Amino acid sequence: MASAYQEQCCSICTLQHITNKADEWCPECDEYLCSSCKTHHKLAKSSRKHKTFEMSDLKELPTFVSAIKLECDTHHENYEYFCPKHEIPICVICAKEHTSCGTFTILRKLEDTKTSTTMIKLEQNVKDIQQNLEIFLQNRRSNLSNLKGQHESCRQKVKEIRLEINQHLDKLEKIVNDEIDTTYTKHKLQVEQRVDDLSGRETRMNTIQNNIEKIKDHASEIQIFLSIQSIQNNLKEEESQLVTIGKEKLREIELSFLPALSCTSDIKQASFGEIKINTKPADISFVRQDGSEAQLVMPGIHTKDIDGISLTKKNSITFPTYMGNTSIEGCCSNDDGIIFQL
Ligand SMILES: [Zn+2]
Ligand SMILES: [Zn+2]
Ligand SMILES: [Zn+2]
Ligand SMILES: [Zn+2]
Repeated sequence: MASAYQEQCCSICTLQHITNKADEWCPECDEYLCSSCKTHHKLAKSSRKHKTFEMSDLKELPTFVSAIKLECDTHHENYEYFCPKHEIPICVICAKEHTSCGTFTILRKLEDTKTSTTMIKLEQNVKDIQQNLEIFLQNRRSNLSNLKGQHESCRQKVKEIRLEINQHLDKLEKIVNDEIDTTYTKHKLQVEQRVDDLSGRETRMNTIQNNIEKIKDHASEIQIFLSIQSIQNNLKEEESQLVTIGKEKLREIELSFLPALSCTSDIKQASFGEIKINTKPADISFVRQDGSEAQLVMPGIHTKDIDGISLTKKNSITFPTYMGNTSIEGCCSNDDGIIFQL
């Protein structure tokens, strides 16, 4: 059957080399019928009971359904039966090769397939899978949105740590700078006081030198003699003080900074933290409604029950006599053989 229904021509008219647009399709004859052939088909004794379909109905069918063949490829006869053993449709001629296959489903006698248990189960099965898909999708979408939030919060945490480190470093920097300032000010003041003291001494010494010049120019011998005694005492005192100052007060004061933190050892090798991925098993699984089964049974097909299995003897085993009276408690088999439990 072709898929382009709209342009389909009447099969009977085509045989007579006449082109007539088809109105209906008879699945039993697998023939398209124009309006006049349709009437004839409805009246003829052989086809009176055939149920036909309008071309507009056919258009709605999925392609895989319209592609289903209703005629046997080998014998070119309509399919009449469904073989339960081979699970294929067969024609009357094929049927001769399937005599031992069990009870055939007679395709022409199928009725109420739309409302059959199998159809109900099939629809329930589709609904089940849809519901499960919806839950699975919801689960993945919720994981996606959680991941997005977690990504944001990880980035936020890194930012916070960075900010904390920055603030802590700012604090440490301020403490050490304050300390540097205080120490500098304290020692600068000491040195400045010493400079002031020495400058005072320098001025006094200049005055003494001036006085000596003036005495030499203008004083009498007695005045000069007595002045020398007085100046000598002053100089002795000044000199002794300067010796002490030179010994104790001229120490070189150096200010330097020894870092306790270094980029290479403490910060370069450290990382902000590690990334962890945790995978938990989902607490959802495929849920099947009661009575809906993944394996669907076709109408008229009978699953093999234990009575339908015929046994053939292939081997016999005799247990060695040294084992005495043994009885078999159980056995299991795989492709390599059978293991008996004695
Ligand atoms: Zn026709
Ligand atoms: Zn027909
Ligand atoms: Zn056949
Ligand atoms: Zn068969």
